[in-house]
Amino acid sequence: MRTWQRPEVPHLAGDNVPPLLWDTATRELVEARPDDVARLYVCGITPYDATHLGHAATYLAFDTLQRVWLDAGYRVHYAQNITDIDDPLLERAAATGVEWRTLADEQIELFRDDMTSLNILPPDDYVAVTEVIEQIGRATRILFERGLAYRVDDDVYFDTEAAQRSAPWVLGEESGLDRETMLALFAERGGDPDRAGKRDPLDPLLWRAPRDGEPSWPSPAGEGRPGWHIECSVIALMHLGRDFTVQGGGSDLVFPHHELSAGHAAALSGHPLARVYSHAGMVAYRGEKMSKSLGNLVLVSRLRESGVDVRAIRLALLAHHYRSDWEWFDDAIDDAEARLASWSEVVGAPLDAPLDDDAAQGESDLVAAIRAALRNDLDTPAALRAVDAWVETRPSRVSALVPTAIDALFGLKL
Ligand code: ZN
Repeated sequence: MRTWQRPEVPHLAGDNVPPLLWDTATRELVEARPDDVARLYVCGITPYDATHLGHAATYLAFDTLQRVWLDAGYRVHYAQNITDIDDPLLERAAATGVEWRTLADEQIELFRDDMTSLNILPPDDYVAVTEVIEQIGRATRILFERGLAYRVDDDVYFDTEAAQRSAPWVLGEESGLDRETMLALFAERGGDPDRAGKRDPLDPLLWRAPRDGEPSWPSPAGEGRPGWHIECSVIALMHLGRDFTVQGGGSDLVFPHHELSAGHAAALSGHPLARVYSHAGMVAYRGEKMSKSLGNLVLVSRLRESGVDVRAIRLALLAHHYRSDWEWFDDAIDDAEARLASWSEVVGAPLDAPLDDDAAQGESDLVAAIRAALRNDLDTPAALRAVDAWVETRPSRVSALVPTAIDALFGLKL
């Protein structure tokens, strides 16, 4: 799929210090250290309800991670999928009377516009599931031939028990959940634990045979369409290879989606999917997680239409730690606009004239403080407070260093 316009990122340090990042699987801070290139996969949207602030917060978290890597001098290879065929999309299309492809295309376009306006770095590989049906079908067939998949009627399921015996993967290791909780989440998030004929209730669907009124495609696994988790395993392996640096997404994807994507990838490649599994928290509004059915979606496009400065949206989101669950309040935009104004007033017109020693030291201390905060599990609230404290000192002269750092690391042009 066509991606979106890439914002320019000024170059800063290049000292090759990797960030620390919280790893869901080991439940500790680990170094997100790239080999030569940082390889990042972040699960993309199912194209409906784009782009609410929960989406924006997740993609901004991994935008920040990329900026931290770039600042340290690493190159980044970033891949993202679009789940442009799946049950929830078909259900939404049916409920609204819009053809599913039309709904998906409109929402993908809206998502691109929102990401562009928010200055979010685009993926290098932006891949819709419908573009890789053949490859997913082939992967399903390989798993079947290895005895790691089986049929229930004409549908194909992943054999979690057989996969754990043959691949470097343990069900429940990434999420740390017990079986009872996994069963409950599996049922809640698209799984079918009660289907008769499955070897284990937690075995996920790899390939769905054609049904009346549903789109389907020919493939090496037969006619049909892919299950949810296998799409990300295949797209990630195709574009990033095995054992890549960071697998990211919202925390509602930890189980079953990321756990089982990792299982499929390990069964296909014989290696772990990724080294670090990183998850962003959920954003609530009016006391509940944002959802169309509750009528509490805050859309980036609506905020933009109402005249809000997109830089204030970025700042409002950056004011929360990416891993926390938090609630959006409408006055968060006012706070962010006030912060933006106070920063802009001080930073707005950098001088070419040399700074005195104290001012130069103050600036380099500030950049060091921003960098230290972000390298410590992307602590954006602490990084913003460091800028606030420096602005409070009312520096009379400002060099290009500070606005360059704010652009490079926060994605804000002042
Ligand atoms: Zn995914």
